[in-house]
Amino acid sequence: MKRKILLITLGLVVASQLPFAYRRYRLSRLHNSIEQLASQRSVQPTDSEYIDYKGVIHVHSSLGGHSTGNFAELISAAKTNQLDFVIITEHPQADFDTAAMTLTGTHAGVLFVNANEVTTADGDRLVLIPGSADAASMSVKSTREVADKQKDSGGLSIVAYPTDSQTWRSIPVDGVEVYNLFTNALAANPVILFFDGLWSYGRYPELMFANFFARPAENLKRWDEAIAKGNRKLAATAGNDAHSNIGLSVNDASGKQWLGVKLDPYERSFQVVRTHVLIKKDRGLTRESLLEAIANGHCYVSFDLFGDAKGFIFQITSPERRIMGDEIGFGNGLRVMVSAPLISRIVLSRDGSAIDEKSGSRVEFPINSKGAYRVEAYLDSLPAPATGKPWILSNPIYVK
Ligand SMILES: [Zn+2]
Repeated sequence: MKRKILLITLGLVVASQLPFAYRRYRLSRLHNSIEQLASQRSVQPTDSEYIDYKGVIHVHSSLGGHSTGNFAELISAAKTNQLDFVIITEHPQADFDTAAMTLTGTHAGVLFVNANEVTTADGDRLVLIPGSADAASMSVKSTREVADKQKDSGGLSIVAYPTDSQTWRSIPVDGVEVYNLFTNALAANPVILFFDGLWSYGRYPELMFANFFARPAENLKRWDEAIAKGNRKLAATAGNDAHSNIGLSVNDASGKQWLGVKLDPYERSFQVVRTHVLIKKDRGLTRESLLEAIANGHCYVSFDLFGDAKGFIFQITSPERRIMGDEIGFGNGLRVMVSAPLISRIVLSRDGSAIDEKSGSRVEFPINSKGAYRVEAYLDSLPAPATGKPWILSNPIYVK
């Protein structure tokens, strides 16, 4: 009898683990496809006068609380990922200026910009670049007051978590965080995460993200609507929102860790999603040129985990050159050109609705009416769990 119970229990344990063994197999298959794609990567020669700088926006350190990360880890993670810039968005503290105390300037060849993340009295969460000693007092000010003050001082405001509040839509903020890695990671089921961790974390830690990655449909919808209804420009960025604090661990009584699954150490977070910024060759990357490029929407979001997007171009070349974030007057014969370092399926949308798609490493679309045009790139050759997930989200070209 005992033997029978033991066998049944064993059978149940094995059966319960089969889905996770299969999920590990899927990640190994995805890993191989990503490597194969990387070997096919080629940047199309263009006459672009812009350089593509890749970096991350919305990063926390232990200075602002509820993060365990320190500066050495931040610098090392940025260097490992060959990032050009990191915008650190410290939460304010009542008794000290977190923006003044965090990393700023160039360290190990990476440009660090000190910013703040604040919550306004209207409930909007804004990333203020650069940050300041005033950040701690923003919680009693309206979103409009905070955005105006930031603009007056020459800085940028970007709405983080755009679905949490409505107020920002009528306020002249500079951008919207259309994807937030932290929010996406929190949606992972902890039980599934635990067993995925047991099976896959040792071999494919970075790809565990692919298991729960979802296209940020609601954020994109809010952003598209705000642009179309407000007849305004609004830049899209990605928020790594890296805290280095999501995960599960099993420790023994002495504190020794037996199993640790950390979804968002800086190094991994910086590998998954990046904001690429286009800056004119003669300007170079500085704090000023970076802020200006983001404010102009000269940037795009890329899930570089699936393939480094550096070199991606979305532009109009005739009658005059315009890149994403720019405006151009409508005229006959207008065409947008998209070029990517990997063969991908490019979906063109106007004012938020998909209107056309083409596959290739360089494709063109005719433009037949006014509107805000943007593209999403998909790597259809990647297997599950990456199937149907976007690789690149561009900023729009505004045809007026
Ligand atoms: Zn944050």
